[in-house]
Amino acid sequence: MAKKIPLRQCVGCSKMKGKKEMMRVLKTAEDGIILDMTGKKNGRGAYLCMERECLKKARKNKGLERSLKMSIPDEIYDNLEKEFEKGE
Ligand SMILES: [Zn+2]
Repeated sequence: MAKKIPLRQCVGCSKMKGKKEMMRVLKTAEDGIILDMTGKKNGRGAYLCMERECLKKARKNKGLERSLKMSIPDEIYDNLEKEFEKGE
């Protein structure tokens, strides 16, 4: 029997993918909203494909806000985009 790979839904494009193909946006007590490219940090998170487009889509369709159940100011999205570019 094939091993079941747990799938997560991208809050940008709504596609289902394996966790390892995705990055997370985490809500943390210490640092606020951060980008977790490794998927190893703890916290409540939303999943996104490793694509800048999905980050943009999540910003546009408010998928990230829905998933994290909070409103996210523009500057946080800008930070996430910067972090994404760094991690690329
Ligand atoms: Zn996506």
